[in-house]
Amino acid sequence: MDVFESLTGEYEQIVFGHDPETGLRTIIAVHSTALGPALGGTRFYPFPSEGAALRDVLRLAKGMAYKNAAAGLDLGGGKAVIIGDARTDKTPDLLRAYGRVVNRLGGAYVTTADMGTNSADMVFIAETTPHVTGTPDASGDPSPNTAYGVWSGMRAVAERLWDEPSMKGRRVAVQGVGKVGGALARLLADEGAIVAVADIDAKAAGKLAAEIGADAIDAGVVLEAECDVLAPCAMGAIVNDATIPRFRCRAIAGAANNQLERPEHGEALRAAAILYAPDYVINAGGVISVASEIMGFDHEEARGRAAKIAATLHTVFDEAAASGVSPAQTADALAERRILAVKRTFDGPGGSQ
Ligand code: NAD
Repeated sequence: MDVFESLTGEYEQIVFGHDPETGLRTIIAVHSTALGPALGGTRFYPFPSEGAALRDVLRLAKGMAYKNAAAGLDLGGGKAVIIGDARTDKTPDLLRAYGRVVNRLGGAYVTTADMGTNSADMVFIAETTPHVTGTPDASGDPSPNTAYGVWSGMRAVAERLWDEPSMKGRRVAVQGVGKVGGALARLLADEGAIVAVADIDAKAAGKLAAEIGADAIDAGVVLEAECDVLAPCAMGAIVNDATIPRFRCRAIAGAANNQLERPEHGEALRAAAILYAPDYVINAGGVISVASEIMGFDHEEARGRAAKIAATLHTVFDEAAASGVSPAQTADALAERRILAVKRTFDGPGGSQ
């Protein structure tokens, strides 16, 4: 892979870190610090090649920049990958060595947990750099705030479709009853929605369903469930050429990251008259919670900011309707505008743009 070509003028820095003693191989990508330090997690994953790791870290760093910008946070976007199997290669010394690489960026990049890392790992990283969030004694598990943000965003979807924000009496199918999906299903059931839950762990789905008075449905058919809102809260790429013709929902609004397999699937949903709440807008409650450590706000404010996801979605839906493009594309434009506006300020009068 041609590294300089992949920068495409979009990324501020890509840092490669190696520590032969611990076997650390890491790549950190800083998309932009226009809005503030670049916040994004560390993914520990056995990438099949260095090129695959680089492609992923670039894609994820840009995604974080857009998510943070759309959430109204004064934070840029970045991401890190560590190449290896988290179950066998992750050691305290390797994490400390990784912290030293993060530290050399001088605060341009602030890390947190992601796939393959957790809040206990952040403690080792914090031994060698202060530029880390999400240790167990800090903001804690972001999932409840993510669920609350998705629930708030769903109210904007309801208002759009039925002229009132309440989900009472609406049928919602939740795919995945993990940390976010489970909490979301509870919030919806409390509000009087008619909830169906599905999980590849059928026992977990059955248990939750019994507790909250929901239906447990088969994980193999949840995407085709006849419902008002489908809430994907498991894995990404669930919106694709195969699934779009099978959806039986009026809207898709859930926590999963990267729900569209390809960008053009946003337009395909619009053509199918399915209202899509762009994933990184509606699931920003988690990053808002993590950002609270850097930006210095408390739990209550994090909740208040997650509630504003509804207002952001209204803006996205309004602009999308006015311009005749998909909400997914509109959300990207909104995030880009925010980043560029600040860049302009930094350039000062007479600067470029
Ligand atoms: P989790 O691991 O706690 O839960 C995921 C659940 O989905 C598990 O119960 C799993 O069994 C189930 N699942 C996996 N594949 C499935 C399938 N094919 N069908 C049905 N169920 C399936 O994860 P989480 O923290 O709840 O996150 C859920 C999604 O939300 C992920 O895509 C994550 O990236 C995204 N997300 C999470 C947060 C957060 O704060 N946790 C923030 C933003 C985005």
